[in-house]
Amino acid sequence: MITCKECDGKCCKYIAIEVDEPEDREDFDQMIWQLCHEGISIYIDNDNDWIVEVKTNCKYLDENNSCKIHEKVLDPNNENPIKEPDFCKKHSMENCEMNGEGLPHKLLFSKPEDIIKYMELKGIKY
Ligand code: SF4
Ligand code: SF4
Repeated sequence: MITCKECDGKCCKYIAIEVDEPEDREDFDQMIWQLCHEGISIYIDNDNDWIVEVKTNCKYLDENNSCKIHEKVLDPNNENPIKEPDFCKKHSMENCEMNGEGLPHKLLFSKPEDIIKYMELKGIKY
């Protein structure tokens, strides 16, 4: 099994946002605009959900690819000390994208042209 250090902290270096399935030219045009930006990709996951992925490093990832706030409070004197989000706690190394089964996506759109091709397949005019 690959360790977090070996995979370079992959799952702490992006956020994934579920969005509505695009239906018409306007929806696809918005995705083309999103994919014009660095660090953005869009995919259809294995549950057929549409996901926009934004590459961005978590502020609490340290240089060894460990979480600075895992099971500890970073600044206990702060009135509202930050704790590891439940979302992260639920994520386990055993079933993460590097160690789990297969790719997290069925279809990946990494550039605007990928969406344009998909529109053609769906018979939607670009
Ligand atoms: S949980 Fe998995 S994807 Fe995340 S850093 Fe560890 S090995 Fe990499
Ligand atoms: S809070 Fe910790 S586990 Fe969650 S994304 Fe940031 S570094 Fe990773």
